[in-house]
Amino acid sequence: MAEEKKTLIKKLETAKDVSRFMADYYLELDQAAKAGNPKIAWCSSVGPAEILRAMGFLVYFPETHSAMLGATRMATDLIPEANALGYSPDICSYLTADIGAFLRGITPLTKVYKIDSVPKPDVLVFNTNQCRDVQDWFSWYGEKFNVPVIGVYTHRGVGEITDAHITSVAEQMESLIEPLGKISRKTFNMQELKKVVKLSRDCSEIWKKILNAAEAVPAPLTFFDGTTLMGPAVVGRGTQKALDVYKNVLAELDERIKNSAGAVNDERYRIYWDGMPVWGRLSVHAKLFAGLNTNVLASTYCNSWIFSALDPEDPFNSMAKAYTELFVVRSDKAKEEYIKNMLDFFKVDGIIYHDSKTCPNNTNCRYGMPRRLEKLTGVPSLVINGDLNDLRLVSDEQTQTNVEAFIEQLEERSH
Ligand code: SF4
Repeated sequence: MAEEKKTLIKKLETAKDVSRFMADYYLELDQAAKAGNPKIAWCSSVGPAEILRAMGFLVYFPETHSAMLGATRMATDLIPEANALGYSPDICSYLTADIGAFLRGITPLTKVYKIDSVPKPDVLVFNTNQCRDVQDWFSWYGEKFNVPVIGVYTHRGVGEITDAHITSVAEQMESLIEPLGKISRKTFNMQELKKVVKLSRDCSEIWKKILNAAEAVPAPLTFFDGTTLMGPAVVGRGTQKALDVYKNVLAELDERIKNSAGAVNDERYRIYWDGMPVWGRLSVHAKLFAGLNTNVLASTYCNSWIFSALDPEDPFNSMAKAYTELFVVRSDKAKEEYIKNMLDFFKVDGIIYHDSKTCPNNTNCRYGMPRRLEKLTGVPSLVINGDLNDLRLVSDEQTQTNVEAFIEQLEERSH
């Protein structure tokens, strides 16, 4: 039995390279925070990281830290600390867990990397393209550290992206340069920005290839692999190191494809995941699906760090386009078209929508989308209730029962 369980999850060897990358990333930030040089900018996960790097900042992403709070199952106990300050239990549990951790003076970085605390920011920079919560979250820290909070306000629910959208966002991005220069004491250099945008674009391209490897039958990776492999695409875009680590990951996936080595034994069903991961249940969910010979192999979430529009020859306009054409920013119609293409490309048998209680922004099943998409594509779906970080909102028994019933339903359809 123990042997059988062990073989359910086939870890990628190169996941270790990604872990090393993350360790180096946090250690570099810690050293900079202690030395006061280079300056540190906190950035929302789909914020203008390229501009920050080009202006000489090291970039720290609070969402990645909060995902760690979730994955280490520290988050749930910390959320009430922020609730006590008036931040509702119904709002983003990244925000509440992260502020809660700060108030308690703890961080998962201590256990994993022996780092005492998150790096103090010199500036916080958000983009509201994903939600308003990032702005509120950053504003709290801005006050705490007495440092500036600046940002970009993006249109939401966007159908077709027009020149007006792009101009508005590009102008806001350009206007960040002046305040950032005052903080970093660096003069803006267009060549440097072009270089960073090129690296970011290259990172996006290789990350896309990694995720698209799941097109193969059987698929060589799972969504759950993707959630841990994605670190460099989020925190390292715009750096050469992120590219280097992904070259190794892609080579291992190509090798798996060559050998028809699926990530899941005897892959029978292929599932698309929409919405946030349940960070504290990654391993439980990976085993649940693998035990049913089912691979959750593609997702909206991991694909959110593909920025194909980035163009080093036109940095501001292309950043504005890349950060506005993201799934989370778009109208339901545009989202449905996107998912439909994903279902075709990855040869998907079923969709799981995660109704994440505290993140309506990354939850797409509340306004009729599952039925509309099933009508359009014939692909059935299941909604599971839960949350990204607050495990009080997760029922393991209910998830297991519902998933097992859904896979049975797929089985019946295939007869
Ligand atoms: S998109 Fe959702 S999970 Fe991410 S910061 Fe906003 S509310 Fe939180």
